[in-house]
Amino acid sequence: MDLGIKGKRALVAASSKGLGLGCARALAEAGCDLIMNARGEEALEAAAQAIRDDFGVEVTTVACDVTTEDGRAKLLAAAGKVDILVTNAGGPPPGMWQDWSRDDFIKALDANMLTPIALMQAALPGMIERGWGRVVNITSQSVKSPIAVLGLSNSARTGLTGFVAGTARQVAEHGVNINNLLPGIHATDRADSLDTGMAEKEGITLEEARAKRTATIPAKRYGTAEEFGQTCAFMCSQHAGYMIGQNILLDGGSLNYTL
Ligand code: NAP
Repeated sequence: MDLGIKGKRALVAASSKGLGLGCARALAEAGCDLIMNARGEEALEAAAQAIRDDFGVEVTTVACDVTTEDGRAKLLAAAGKVDILVTNAGGPPPGMWQDWSRDDFIKALDANMLTPIALMQAALPGMIERGWGRVVNITSQSVKSPIAVLGLSNSARTGLTGFVAGTARQVAEHGVNINNLLPGIHATDRADSLDTGMAEKEGITLEEARAKRTATIPAKRYGTAEEFGQTCAFMCSQHAGYMIGQNILLDGGSLNYTL
């Protein structure tokens, strides 16, 4: 399907690996030029070069920590015009509710709530002026159904979800759509680290931890970064013009809901 976004400029934060990379590759396949970011320069350059080779689009890379003010300033300066914004950053560490300090919460809020908000505040005025824009925030299934050990994620991402719910409806009249994309478990480094933690806690192997989690998913498998990216690209397409302020869950059926 032609997504109708060839030639658009897409900034994809935290995109050298995993879900961010899946989104970057799918947008490049749709013909978008990219601004990609991650802290580690080597993996970022390798991912960017593979995209240039595979899809022939322009890719600008900015190696920086997107959760810092300096990092974001560098990223936005290199980006220039942004038609499509995909916000993303690493997830907070697991733990228990009794243990988190104010500093732990501030870090999680900075990374998974205030960073995407700051990126939107920077990109939205240009989108509004040009009468077209798409924002997809990578959040988590934890905003619909809390994950006990990820209380920091539950808290920060729910805050972001509230901001998006209100803001999406204020910018929609300008042709600018903001939506959230909620991953359930996907086969990435993040899933490996969560499964390693579970294996250590329960005294089982990593394979056993993966099998245990897989058994709880109706689709009986982990999601892939590729299919996640394709959904993101659709949400950024011309065809998604009437999708406003939605929370799209990709979880293989894990959350047992009717609606
Ligand atoms: P991942 O495989 O660990 O990849 C994370 C990517 O983000 C890497 O490219 C990493 O590169 C970059 N990154 C991390 N922190 C950054 C920072 N501060 N500044 C710039 N780049 C940064 O993670 P993922 O699985 O794709 O997850 C993406 C997001 O979705 C996370 O917030 C995660 O919590 C959430 N999520 C994932 C799952 C899942 O099952 N995978 C489920 C629910 C929610 P560098 O390390 O080089 O910076």
